[in-house]
Amino acid sequence: MVIAIDGPGGVGKTTVTRRLATLLGIEYLDTGATYRAAAVAALRGGVDPHDEPAVLAAVQSSEIAYEDGVIFLDGEPVVAATRSEGVTKAVTPVSAHPRVRQHIVALQRQWVADRGGQAVVEGRDIGTVVFPDALVKVYLTASPEVRAARRAGDTEASQLSVSEIAADLHRRDHADSTRQASPLRKAEDAVEIDTSVMDVEEVVAAILELVAEGRTGSNAEEIEGTGS
Ligand code: C5P
Repeated sequence: MVIAIDGPGGVGKTTVTRRLATLLGIEYLDTGATYRAAAVAALRGGVDPHDEPAVLAAVQSSEIAYEDGVIFLDGEPVVAATRSEGVTKAVTPVSAHPRVRQHIVALQRQWVADRGGQAVVEGRDIGTVVFPDALVKVYLTASPEVRAARRAGDTEASQLSVSEIAADLHRRDHADSTRQASPLRKAEDAVEIDTSVMDVEEVVAAILELVAEGRTGSNAEEIEGTGS
C-alpha cells in the first residue's frame, strides 16, 4: 500500500506524512530530501547545478540513503546541509534534470520495494509519476500566506523573514510547476485537500478515511476545512 502525498512547499506535507505513517505503522519517505541530497552531492563535488551531465555523474558516484526520517549522503547524515539556503536554491535546477530524476526515482521506488511496498511517500510527482498506482493519492494545497507562515515556524527557515520565505516559495512553485520533467501538478485521480483552515489532525483524519475506503482517485473530489 502506497499513500502518495503531493503538493507545493509549506502545505504541511511532511508533518501530515509523518503522523499518518505513525498511525498506520508504516514508514514514510520524504522525496524532497532525496533531491536535496543530490544537490548537496553536486555542490560538494564543485559542480554547476545547471550542468546535467556533471550533476548526474556526481549523484551516480554518491550513495543517497534515507532511514527513519534521516537523509544520508555517503553514510553521513546531512539533514542540516540539505536545509541550507544554498541547497534550497540549487535543488531547483538539480531536480529539473530528467536524467537526474530518473536516477532518484529509481532509488525511491527501490526504497519502497525494500519495505514490502508499504509506505507514505511525499513529494511533487508521487501520484503522477513515481507511484501512479498508489492506493490513495492526495494533493495538499493552502493559501500562499498560510504556507509562508508555516515555513516561518520551521526552525530551519527561521532566519528568513516571512516575506523572504513567501518569495522563495513562489520562486520554487513556479519552477517546479513549469519544468518539462515531471512538473508539480495534481494527478487527475488525486483528492485535493485545502489545508488552509485545517489543523494536522483534521487533515490526517480526512486521509485516514480515504485509506479505510481504499479510495483510489476514480472518485476524485475536493475536501475543504470549515475552519470551525
Ligand atoms: O519538499 P522539499 O521542499 O524539500 O523539496 C525540495 C525541492 O525538490 C522542490 O522544490 C522540488 O524542486 C524538488 N522535488 C521534486 N520532486 C519531488 C520532491 C521534491 O522535484 N518528488
